[in-house]
Amino acid sequence: MNAAAETTEEALDGATCGTHEVAATFVCTRCGDFGCAECLFSSVKDKSVCTRCAAKGLGEPIPWERRKELGTTRAFWRTCKAVMSSPARFFRTPTTQDGVMMAVLHGVIAVTIGLFLSYAVAGIFLGIAGGTFAAIGDEAAQPIGALLGTYGCVIAGFSPILALMAGPANALFGQVVAAAAAHGVLALGKKTKGTFEDTLRVCSYANAPYLFTFVPLLGSFTWFWVVGLEVVGLRETHRCGTDWAAAAAIGYRVVFALLLIGGYAVLLFGFLATVPPPPTP
Ligand SMILES: [Zn+2]
Ligand SMILES: [Zn+2]
Repeated sequence: MNAAAETTEEALDGATCGTHEVAATFVCTRCGDFGCAECLFSSVKDKSVCTRCAAKGLGEPIPWERRKELGTTRAFWRTCKAVMSSPARFFRTPTTQDGVMMAVLHGVIAVTIGLFLSYAVAGIFLGIAGGTFAAIGDEAAQPIGALLGTYGCVIAGFSPILALMAGPANALFGQVVAAAAAHGVLALGKKTKGTFEDTLRVCSYANAPYLFTFVPLLGSFTWFWVVGLEVVGLRETHRCGTDWAAAAAIGYRVVFALLLIGGYAVLLFGFLATVPPPPTP
């Protein structure tokens, strides 16, 4: 028996459930109340949560954790909808499954499907544009149109393969880097109330809006949506202020962008310094 289990046993000694007239079987890690089997929402080791605390979230396990009951496709889509439409309640919902791999997988699937749709839509647009060009353009324009059209069809046709080649690796890398940076910032401020796994779970589910990158023009804004969801998720998961959550989700991205811009500036000035001045007449 480990130390944590011992303290729980001691704490439960002779305690009764806060709601029911029976012996308590667990202590809620969120509110600290005693609960019985009937009050138990999540039995994940060291993360037991009571149904009263879970009611502040979705009130039921998140759809992705109910794949057996809902079917994978419906569970996937319902999870995307829940995280995008009510992020605070979504991220307040205690996980009922041990480990974070399935959450990571959800993010990877969202990014990969989003990439596939982007390639397909871009290819179809290019195909239509090229085809129109070839059909109504003058003689000089026709070969260019035909070329563009063919190119578009090839992109659309290969979109699943292109997405599978780039999607999973990018998503996985992005999620792990985002989680590591966010968790690092929160740890620096001593604001971590959850584990690194909890942070990685947030950064994975927050990728759901990437499904919509294919929408022309508006698609580029999904990135802001993802970062916004990360802020809400980090705040709810670590029960910190919005300021710290925002610093954790955005801070390192700003630093990274500045470093990148600074790097380019150094390169540019370095290049300019090596260029000999124009000869004076
Ligand atoms: Zn509770
Ligand atoms: Zn009870």
